Order: sequence, then C-alpha cells, then structure tokens
Amino acid sequence: NHLVNQIAAGEVVERPASIVKELIENSLDAGARRIELDIEQGGIKRVRVRDDGRGIPPDQLALALARHATSKVAELQDLEAVATLGFRGEALPSIASVSRLRLISRTHEESRAWEVAVGVDGTLEAPRPAAHPPGTSVEVRDLFFNVPARRKFLRTEKTEFSHLEQVVRRIALVSPEVAFHLRHNGRTQFDLPPATDAHGHLDRLARLLGETFAEQALDLDAVAVQLRLWGWVVRPAFSRSQADQQFFYVNGRMVRDKLVSHAVRQAFNDVLHHGRQPAYVLFLELPARLVDCNVHPAKHEVRFREGRQVHDFIFRTLHRRLTDGVL
Ligand code: ADP
Ligand code: MG
Repeated sequence: NHLVNQIAAGEVVERPASIVKELIENSLDAGARRIELDIEQGGIKRVRVRDDGRGIPPDQLALALARHATSKVAELQDLEAVATLGFRGEALPSIASVSRLRLISRTHEESRAWEVAVGVDGTLEAPRPAAHPPGTSVEVRDLFFNVPARRKFLRTEKTEFSHLEQVVRRIALVSPEVAFHLRHNGRTQFDLPPATDAHGHLDRLARLLGETFAEQALDLDAVAVQLRLWGWVVRPAFSRSQADQQFFYVNGRMVRDKLVSHAVRQAFNDVLHHGRQPAYVLFLELPARLVDCNVHPAKHEVRFREGRQVHDFIFRTLHRRLTDGVL
C-alpha cells in the first residue's frame, strides 16, 4: 500500500509547490480564516501549513492519511457541481509516502489536540496528545528522502521557493477574505490581512504584486448575458515586464487556457509596447454548466460551451478598458 501511495504521489506531488497547493486547499475546505505557511529551504527541508479551520476529530485523524478513505467522488452526481476544492482523497497519503509527515489537529469541541505521524515504513504511529489551538497543522519534512530518483529533479532552493510562492499568490488573490502569512527560512515574505472590500482587495494586490501594479491598475467590471468579467488590468507601458503577473480565474479557479490567453493577448495587442508582458488579475464568472473545468485540471485548461461568445466578451471588455478607459 505504501508503494501504491508512492506511485499515486507521482501524480500529486511534483515539488514543494504542489504540496503547498494541496495543503492550502484542504485548509480552505475546512473553513480556515487564517493560514500560516512556514517554509524551509524552498520547501524541500520543510513545509508547514497551519490553519484555524474546523479541525479533524481524533477518531478520523488516521483516516485522513488513508488512501481513498475520504474520496467523495463516488457520491458525486455531477462533477461540475463540486463545491469543495478537493475530491480525490489522496493528497495526504500520497504526500506522506514520499516525506516525513506529521498531522496535528484539534476541533473546536476538543480540549486538546492530537498528533499522528507516518513512520519511515509507511505505518501510522498511534495518535498522541499535543498542544495546538483549534485548527490543523500539517508538517512535511525531507521531501523525497526515500525516493532519490525524484529528489534529483528538484531544482535549487530559490527556484522551488519561487514556484511555491507563486502558488500561494494565486490562491491568496482569489481568497481575499482569508488571511495568509508566508515565511521562508524564518523571514516573512508576505503577511496579508483579510480583505473585505475593494479597497482591501487592492491592498492585497499591492502586497502580492507590488505597489506599481496596484497604483496603475485599472479596475473593471462588465456583464453580458450570463457572463461577468471583473478585476484589474495594467496598461503594459506601466507594468513590470513579467509573465508572472498574469492571473485569470474562471469561477474561482486559476486557468491558463488557450482561448482565454488568445482573447486577452488580442485585446492587449493594440496597446502593447514592444517586449512588454501584460499584467492582470481577472475573474470570469459564468454558470457552471457553461464550462467544463475537468478537461485538464493539472494544466489549468477548461472548455467553454459557448467558446466564441466567451472569447469575444473577454476581448471586447478588455479592449475597451485598455483603449478609451471607459466601459
Ligand atoms: P481530500 O481533500 O481530497 O478529501 P486529502 O488527502 O487532501 O483528501 O485530505 C484528506 C482528508 O483529511 C480531508 O477530506 C479532510 O477530511 C481531512 N483534512 C485534511 N486537511 C485538513 C485540514 N487542514 N483541516 C481539516 N481537515 C483536513
Ligand atoms: Mg485535499
């Protein structure tokens, strides 16, 4: 079973950034209002994610580390209607099979926390009492210590951390009401208070993407039949020339889709200065039945029922905002 988990880990766990993604999604699923990440050596040495979510009851701690025990897929009538972000029930067991994992959790009803750890051979150690406020901490140490072939593919500490940081940015941009604290090698990278209004959202943009982005950002909010596009764009002349300042979400999920990029790129083309990358944070909202998000979740591709209409709507909205500035 440990081996099965390791094989599954090949799909879930590519690098520290993919671990962080899974752990943050679990925290959000658990209703966390504050998520703290403590990272060492790009996440290779240690990733710790601590939340104030609903916690895991003591009798379910071991289950959380058992493969497929928590899979909700079987109960699903309609994949498109999945409200929670996780549904495979294999992230924790997969991660545990290629690292040293500790899980500490306490529900709001319990007076103390409980801790479980996975031994080197993959067996679960008996739960023991621990100190922890209500919520959950997952600590993942020594990634791929037992899979040297995979360890070889990890890049430098700096590269791994930049991937990891980008994952946190992506999620933090679309979860403004949740506070995030990211620390690397003991140094705070960003500390984001919860944002409750447009002003707070803009403050978060500034902390995540830089003051320049926030200062130059043009806000937009447009609707068409069943479609809404809102967010911020920066005229390329002002933005830093960086491809990592492009965030497009469809119904709350980050996408990197061909149709979307084409529409965005076309809209920016007229105003694009040579060599500049457009910068934007955009949210497209449409009825779930008009988009299939499971085409290629890992590649962030989606398929729209009315592709042409979506493309034109994105293009028209952005083009108008970027050229004459009014919607
Ligand atoms: P999935 O999220 O697909 O159910 P995971 O392996 O990621 O599978 O997590 C297994 C289970 O452990 C979750 O379904 C959830 O019940 C529990 N769990 C994991 N992380 C947390 C957390 N931070 N807070 C509360 N429960 C958690
Ligand atoms: Mg999960």
